[in-house]
Amino acid sequence: MRHRIAVIGGGPGGLTFARVLHRHGHPVTVLERDPSPDARPPGGTLDLQEGLGQRALDKAGLAAEFHALSRPEGQAMRILDTDGTVLRDWRPRPDDRANPEIDRRQLRDLLLDPLDVQWGRGVTEVVPGAEDGALVRFADGRQETFDLVIGADGAWSRTRPAVSSATPHYTGVTSVETSIDDIDTRHPDLARLVGDGSMAVYGVNGSLVAQRNSGGHVKVYARFRAPLDWHTDPDRHLGLMNQDAGLDAGLDAGLDLADVEAMRSSLLALFDGWAAPVLDLLRHGTAFAHRPIYVLPVSHTWAHVPGVTLLGDAAHLMPPLGAGANLAMLEGAELAESVAAAPGPGDLDEAVRAFEEQMWARAGKWAQITAAGLERLVSQDPAEAIAVWDEVQPS
Ligand SMILES: Cc1cc2nc3c(=O)[nH]c(=O)nc-3n(C[C@H](O)[C@H](O)[C@H](O)COP(=O)(O)OP(=O)(O)OC[C@H]3O[C@@H](n4cnc5c(N)ncnc54)[C@H](O)[C@@H]3O)c2cc1C
Repeated sequence: MRHRIAVIGGGPGGLTFARVLHRHGHPVTVLERDPSPDARPPGGTLDLQEGLGQRALDKAGLAAEFHALSRPEGQAMRILDTDGTVLRDWRPRPDDRANPEIDRRQLRDLLLDPLDVQWGRGVTEVVPGAEDGALVRFADGRQETFDLVIGADGAWSRTRPAVSSATPHYTGVTSVETSIDDIDTRHPDLARLVGDGSMAVYGVNGSLVAQRNSGGHVKVYARFRAPLDWHTDPDRHLGLMNQDAGLDAGLDAGLDLADVEAMRSSLLALFDGWAAPVLDLLRHGTAFAHRPIYVLPVSHTWAHVPGVTLLGDAAHLMPPLGAGANLAMLEGAELAESVAAAPGPGDLDEAVRAFEEQMWARAGKWAQITAAGLERLVSQDPAEAIAVWDEVQPS
């Protein structure tokens, strides 16, 4: 029996689900809000772990393609002190395939290849228990029903309210992202500073992390503890890491997040006193994007609702510390295998129930690990951040 299956969201989780179901010869409808694959920048590089994201790609029959595209050298990690002293310099062995990096666009194209995604189909609501299945309502006023709807629509999921009243909350740590193009030719000194993979500098309540993508593109993340409205309210300076330096006077009138020069000078003031080569990562950054870090409650679960489920960030949004896409992909692959193996409607519901139990147990552990990790990586004591890396890096 062919179930009518829809997945909402064409991120790593939704696409892996669709690709594995497609591999099993089962039809699947992929509904994506973006009007086209390249409607917005795809975001930074992803490291895919052997037992998680790579296992999912194996289930999709894409392991060899992944290894051809991925960058094992991207597993390199350097940690510098705020004065520029190199404290750690880990380089992977040539055969190390534990966490190779891949650009999001490359991963998306790999998964997308044979899939027929419906672009520009923003979902507004999912209503379970309709006469003919679960009802999906779209922004353009249309609606459709399916036997099973999978919400893989990320942090601000429109599917989630069908099963849970949970909403993401702010962690107290925010992030400003910028990037540098052609680093090897245009800024060779900075290229050496970043190395082949990632570079991080940890200070009191703040960090600067730079990560290589392919083609000499580097993403830089400034992370710091601050109230959510740090950029609008001058009285909220106190929560910021560099209280002595303060932010530049422009902030008193509110910082325009779209003003590249104002963002740059505010960040330079915030990280004032850090080594000049480290601050060059901000000086040479192009656009700046403000991305506060939100999470769902650790171990978020819900009472099973027939016909609707969630996976990935929609189910368990957690701090961006290398697990979210990996979990979303493995969940997508596992759910697809279970759905493909479920012959009747009752079997389908049983398969989804079993999937949810497995997802909740695994994601709950990762949510705890990443929540504790974020507390230690952005804390009063920079030595704590280095200790986190010492615990996870092979000696
Ligand atoms: C800076 C940063 C670095 C990270 N690094 C890593 C890493 O190295 N490894 C790792 O595992 N994870 C990493 N993560 C986490 C990872 O990005 C997410 O966990 C992952 O993208 C979640 O995948 P997803 O498919 O669940 O959701 P998403 O990637 O958010 O995809 C959701 C999709 O749904 C679509 N959508 C949303 N709403 C609707 C709607 N209403 N209707 C239709 N479509 C909709 C969106 O357009 C999007 O395409 C990082 C995150 C950040 C911010």
